[in-house]
Formats: sequence, C-alpha cells, structure tokens
Amino acid sequence: MESPLPPQEGSSEEQERLVALKAFRSAGKGSWASVPDAEWNDWKWQLKNRVTRIDQLERLLPSMTREERAGVLLAGESKLAMAVTPYYFNLLDASDELCPIRRQVIPRLEETTTAPWETLDPVGEDAHSPVPGLVHRYPDRVLFLVTDRCAAYCRYCTRSRLVSNASGYDFHPEFDRQIAYIAEHTEIRDVLLSGGDPLLFNDEKLEYLLGRLRAIPHVEFLRIGTRVPIFLPQRITPELCAMLRQFHPLFVSIHTNHPRELTTEVREALGRMADVGIPLGNQSVLLRHVNDEPVVMKALVQKLLLCRVRPYYIYQCDLIAGSAHLRSTVSRGLEIMDSLRGHTTGYAVPQYVIDAPGGGGKIPVNPGYILRKSATKVILRNFEGKVFEYPEVPEVAAMAPLSDSSMALGKD
Ligand SMILES: *Cc1c(COP(=O)(O)O)cnc(C)c1O
Repeated sequence: MESPLPPQEGSSEEQERLVALKAFRSAGKGSWASVPDAEWNDWKWQLKNRVTRIDQLERLLPSMTREERAGVLLAGESKLAMAVTPYYFNLLDASDELCPIRRQVIPRLEETTTAPWETLDPVGEDAHSPVPGLVHRYPDRVLFLVTDRCAAYCRYCTRSRLVSNASGYDFHPEFDRQIAYIAEHTEIRDVLLSGGDPLLFNDEKLEYLLGRLRAIPHVEFLRIGTRVPIFLPQRITPELCAMLRQFHPLFVSIHTNHPRELTTEVREALGRMADVGIPLGNQSVLLRHVNDEPVVMKALVQKLLLCRVRPYYIYQCDLIAGSAHLRSTVSRGLEIMDSLRGHTTGYAVPQYVIDAPGGGGKIPVNPGYILRKSATKVILRNFEGKVFEYPEVPEVAAMAPLSDSSMALGKD
C-alpha cells in the first residue's frame, strides 16, 4: 500500500536546514533571567531596558569585534542611534559574527563609508513631500510619517535621516497639517502610517489618529507599517487589538527578514492581530549574509504563512549611505525569486521590487519567464525550465461580433 512520494527538491542537507529554520522557538530571557515575568512581558519595560550603550554590549556581547565596537561608538554621535530590545537581543548569536540577527541591529564601522551612489534620501522622498511628514508619491495613496522613534534601529534604515531624532524635525502630535492635506485631496483613498514606528504610540494616541483619518470620507483603506511585532511582540496586547479592530478595513504590514525572527512570541502576537480580522502582509529587505540565500528566504516565506502573514514585498536594499556591506545583488534577488515561484505556493511568493533611486517609486523586477514573443505566439519557460508555447490569438478575430449562425445556435 505504498503511495508514491512527492518529488523531493534539493539535497537532504537543504531539507534539514529548511526544517530547522522553520522551527518556532521562544527567545527566552537569556541574560535577563532574573527579571520577573510581569516586567519582561511589559512592552514599556522592554523599551526602557533597551541595549543602547557600549558598556552594556561589553557585558552582553563579549565577542564584539573591532568593527562592531567602532560602529557602536560612532552610532552614538552620528545619524542613527543603536537600540535593541532585550527580547530581540536574545535572538542574536554571540558566537557568530555573521549572525543574521546581529548584522541587522549592531552597528559596524562600515556604516561610516559612503559609496558614490549612496545618499541620505535614496528614494527621493523629500522631493515628494507636500507637507512635513507626508510623502505623496503615488496617485491614490500617501505615506504618513507619524513618529521618528522605533523599538530598535535597523542598520540599513532608509529613513535614517529622520529617525532616532536625527533631523530635529518636530513631529506635531495633533498632525493638523497632514490631516488637512489628506482631507483636501479627495484622490487619496489609502493612507499608510509609518515613521518611525506607529505602534510605539500608546493606544489613546493611535486611536485618536486613526479616528481622525477614518472621519475623512474618501479615505477607504488604512495601513500601518510596523516592525514592532518583531522587535517588541509584547506591545501587541489584546487591548491594542480591540482598539484597532474599530478601524477596518485596516491592514498591517510587518517587516521581518529572517526566519529566526519568527519566534513563538511573535507567532502569538501576529495571531492576536489576525484574530481581530487584520490582514497581515510582510515586507523584507534583501540583505547580504542575512537572507540572500534561497533556503533562508523559502523558510521565511513558508513560516510567515504559518503565522497567517502573506509575504508582500522583497525590497532590493535602498542606496542608503553606509549600507554597502549589507547590500546583495539584483542577480541574487532574481535567483531567489526563481527558487520560490512554482516551488512553493503563490501565497508565499512576494513581489521583488527596486525602489528607484531619485524618486521613481517601486519597480517590480521578475525573473524572465517569457523567452520570446511574436505576433503569433509566446514562448515561455516554467519553474522547472521546461519550454512551452502559447498562441497569440489575433485580437481582431477574438473581438469579432457573434455571427448570425452562432447567435442562432444560442436560440431554443
Ligand atoms: C511603498 C510606498 C507606498 C505604498 O505602496 P504600496 O505598493 O501600495 O504598498 C506609498 N507611498 C510611498 C512613498 C511608498 O514608498
């Protein structure tokens, strides 16, 4: 009674890595073992006790390298501060300099090197900002930067010119100018709250802001872009979720880059949001030695589905100043997309995009599946590399009105 086995992909080692990467683990309390649960699980405690200083790192990460030490010292006085929640810090592997968690949040000396093609506003947001804190780049939607604070700071941050109080720009708590702009522009049907991280607001402040946006009749769709569920899952309280559910349709885009970031704590936090009907998407940035490997990305997207999150975008890393050491190539990105499409469900396959330098917006980039195209046919390849032909039906014939005889056939 043996049933045929489904085709197995890749080597058995690759299968083993995939299984290991997809396992859900708790981050645990690690170096904070003596902290009572009530404090550990309190998001305000996590924020207050973030790792921000060199003396903390000396204790918590004795294997800190010269490049990291120099990076941390420089981050203190330069554009983007270091901050890591104790929860997230525990995901870091102190014995591995190339740890994918470590590379995302611990500064390195390389951040101070700016390649000629790198800038501080790599996707030209400032040029599309009609009022401070709003970016109106696309016809029907705006990006609303509501705060300069994040739970932790990603070293490849595309908005390092604004976040962690870098700009001195005063974020007005009433948001009157931004809301007035949205109310005046009836073409805006979609508002994306970002920053900084909007989920660092307390419930009351976020409720006030969402309420004001919901009161604008032409705003159909609200979205929050946040990395809080990953850096600070304790913030996703039942109270927050009960508040958010009043504002549907409300979507949440999370940001995760590596399957190890999806812990049991994160799975529960995401589950609480999904349970109040919030559709969840994920945005990843393709990062060198973090996720620029097919097996890592496959584990990530499959694990996201297990958390009820639909992978939405993979971004080619923006040309932000000091990010060269974290940038992978477009060829690598295309190779990863090729390894996903058809090899796993379409629900798990995000769109790979390049946010065009200078303000062109997001441009989809895809592996080539159309090999040739003529007036009469399209030559395609499938995910296995097999070649197929599809006829190009002449448009005139397809659009021709029904003849008398075919009409007659339709009659009783
Ligand atoms: C990404 C982005 C959006 C949202 O784009 P979607 O494709 O709808 O997710 C809106 N405004 C700006 C400036 C953006 O960069």
